[in-house]
Amino acid sequence: MHNIVYLGLGSNEGNREELLEQAISLLVEKTGNLMCRSSIIESEPWGFVSSHKFLNMVVALETSLTPTRLLDITQRIERQLGRKHKSSAKLDYQDRPIDIDILLYGSRIIHTTRLTVPHPLMLQREFVWRPLLEIAPNILWPLTGQPLRDVIEK
Ligand code: AMP
Repeated sequence: MHNIVYLGLGSNEGNREELLEQAISLLVEKTGNLMCRSSIIESEPWGFVSSHKFLNMVVALETSLTPTRLLDITQRIERQLGRKHKSSAKLDYQDRPIDIDILLYGSRIIHTTRLTVPHPLMLQREFVWRPLLEIAPNILWPLTGQPLRDVIEK
């Protein structure tokens, strides 16, 4: 069973373009096929103060991994590319070589201790929904079944 998943990638530390590319290579190696990748955009840090801007993008992958296995792998890739801290609260946000968020997993709604999908903050973060709509302009918002672009407009 193959699922289309959308991942949000961000980097604001080190060689940001190179880190995004390395993350994509590792994701393809360990999770599945790359279906699509958005343009890269630059954004201000969200939720914390830093002089280092982020580069952000969204990729679509086709995977047979379960959501939890996919999270295991995205977290391993974050560590492999040098991320030392995991933030559990807003106060902990800080510079990071790479951040990988699971935005959408097909049309599934997931609430576990480790995973909330759709990603709870994605509608508030333009650096997430803009590249997502670039590669998936007709995608539906799983919580309501409406087109995501209509949900964003409101
Ligand atoms: P962050 O520092 O933003 O990468 O947040 C990492 C934490 O968020 C980890 O403890 C994850 O288990 C949790 N988490 C919950 N939902 C998601 C999601 N959709 N994608 C990635 N991490 C998630």
